[in-house]
Amino acid sequence: MAAIKSQASIDAVADPGKLPLASLGGVGPALVETLQRMGLHTVQDLWFHLPLRYEDRTHLVPMADLRPGMRAQVVGVVEAVEKTYRYRPQLKVAIGDGVMQTLLLRFFHFNKAQAEQFHVGTRLLCYGEVRQSGIGLEIVHPQYRRLDEAAEVVLDERLTPVYPTTEGLGQKRLAGVIGKALQLLPAEAELELIPPALCAEFGLTSLREALLYVHRPPADARMDQLMQGRHPAQQRLAFEELLSQHMSLKRLRMAVRERHAPVLADRGKHQQRWLQGLPFKLTGAQQRVIAEVAADTSQSHPMLRLVQGDVGSGKTAVACAAALSAVEVGCQVALMAPTELLAEQHLRNFRHWLEPLGIAVEWLAGKQQGKARQQAMQRVTEGAPVVIGTHALMQEGVAFSRLGLVIVDEQHRFGVQQRLALRDKGLEGELVPHQLVLTATPIPRTLAMSAYADLDISAIDELPPGRTPVQTIAISNARRMEVIERIHAACMEGRQVYWVCTLIEESEQLRAQAAEAAHTELTHALTDCKVGLIHGRMKPKEKQAVMDAFKAGELAVLVATTVIEVGVDVPNASLMVIENSERLGLAQLHQLRGRVGRGSVASNCVLLYQPPLGQLARERLQVMRETNDGFRIAEKDLELRGPGEVLGTRQTGQLSFRMADLSRDAHLLPAVQQVGEQMLAQHAGQAGRLIERWIGGAARYVNA
Ligand code: ADP
Ligand code: MG
Repeated sequence: MAAIKSQASIDAVADPGKLPLASLGGVGPALVETLQRMGLHTVQDLWFHLPLRYEDRTHLVPMADLRPGMRAQVVGVVEAVEKTYRYRPQLKVAIGDGVMQTLLLRFFHFNKAQAEQFHVGTRLLCYGEVRQSGIGLEIVHPQYRRLDEAAEVVLDERLTPVYPTTEGLGQKRLAGVIGKALQLLPAEAELELIPPALCAEFGLTSLREALLYVHRPPADARMDQLMQGRHPAQQRLAFEELLSQHMSLKRLRMAVRERHAPVLADRGKHQQRWLQGLPFKLTGAQQRVIAEVAADTSQSHPMLRLVQGDVGSGKTAVACAAALSAVEVGCQVALMAPTELLAEQHLRNFRHWLEPLGIAVEWLAGKQQGKARQQAMQRVTEGAPVVIGTHALMQEGVAFSRLGLVIVDEQHRFGVQQRLALRDKGLEGELVPHQLVLTATPIPRTLAMSAYADLDISAIDELPPGRTPVQTIAISNARRMEVIERIHAACMEGRQVYWVCTLIEESEQLRAQAAEAAHTELTHALTDCKVGLIHGRMKPKEKQAVMDAFKAGELAVLVATTVIEVGVDVPNASLMVIENSERLGLAQLHQLRGRVGRGSVASNCVLLYQPPLGQLARERLQVMRETNDGFRIAEKDLELRGPGEVLGTRQTGQLSFRMADLSRDAHLLPAVQQVGEQMLAQHAGQAGRLIERWIGGAARYVNA
């Protein structure tokens, strides 16, 4: 123990960043604990705890220059004070500049002492966001200070950083501790982990200066640039953060690559027989991707491959080909999907394809209880060749005897963590399964390069023949009757129609009710058409019966909840109406629309919306009208929502950057990649320290 301690203090002398927080003057145990709760453990963690935004208190804004939306510092004299208790307690303080202008300060939370501070004639220095109210300009809950009558106003010399913080730790206190930590910032040469030659080659400016700048921007700094994260100092830090993330994923991949995997069959007899039985010919893109996968899996190192393909591009067939190459050599295959419905769809497909070949397909999902589950798990342990399910596949107690291939569908809803958990279910100690990841929502190139740097990528960039692009229009719900007439006309032409209800409520019951209401409405409006209904509350058998009837053309209209988002395939359905389309995200709209345009008839999609539309919804619907291209839609989605949302990893914090923003900083990625490659190859130690610096504890899984 003693030896370890002394080693730590030696390191700390060499590297002040390693010093514990308690070594900073005036930082007691309570503050240390608060900081640790925020993930801040060392002096270096404070250096890299970066401001979220800035406030400008370096000058005063004359009241006449105030505009709504602006954040401003103002001096004024109290002209009137009023307390009201209508609806809720409210304190209103009017201040004036002594000329013409007044500004209202409004408080909803205040105590008695606070209320008594304000008297007519009191001079105040205030800061806050100016809003337009009914009677003029106001600031709600301004920060304020009383000024002595004649005192000169002391202005800040720098912009004020606003840091991410936690309850019980105010901005001033936090900024103070960070300031102390910054005094320990070593000379450039010690702080910089990127080798000087690379810094020079890629034009990377001083890290030390960048850090000092973002923590203490001078009064003349460009506020607009800083607020957008586009200042060169911020970009320098964003570069380094992206670099650390990129290298961490690359390192993860190298570690996996060093392990061993079973060699799978390239074109075995199962695959040949399956291909012969298929009712269609694989597209060129499918064949190419199957070959890319086979080239990987015929190696004795684990494959880590992402297959991107637009909705309906035929990813399932690619997955099946890979599965057969594993089964051929006696390995087990696990196929995991994010929802039970999608998993069921795969189960049906795989059973349909594999049972004629004498290959059993096992089912493991969350819903399954008791004996059925026990027995299924038993069969998996005994070596059932193909196992399909949801996350339940990753749960403890599921033990494979010889897992050789893991297929994950709809990857964007799983995080890196989950990917690893399944990979750890390896086989026979030494061997690691191959991994194939399918994604229905194409991942924009920028994201693929960073968030998925641990994977190789294949693209199915061709749709099966006979698909026609879908024409999309957006129509206000006020014109609902016209839409219903349009449905009637389509049915009279023998076309089939989806009517999708999109209640976003979590409750399946409410969603079912909304669908039932729409079903009743359409049944009454379309007396000569048969209208069916499908929703998540129905039993699997009932759902199947309705789907079969729709497929067989016995139903003209199918009212559905978003359960049809995945896996439904009725080529004759050529019109889709999506109700309340403004509530859905781009990825989901694209998935839904993918259900039409599968036959040779020109298809249409009507996005019914409830006005008034917000800005974001308006842009989404616009994108949907403009393009059918999943990649463009995904790029736009990234722009509108941010990467965490697109990847579905916001909760896990996987991609919450401190400085970088993948859509804003995509231009940095090519250089990030090059620097990363060179550092990992030639400066592995520095690379490790850089990852530790930015990702710290979160990077632990890399070594786990
Ligand atoms: P996705 O990529 O969205 O998962 P699927 O694998 O579900 O797409 O395939 C969509 C539909 O296209 C299915 O009905 C499937 O049988 C069919 N399909 C797949 N490949 C081809 C092909 N090469 N030619 C014709 N139809 C195909
Ligand atoms: Mg699919």
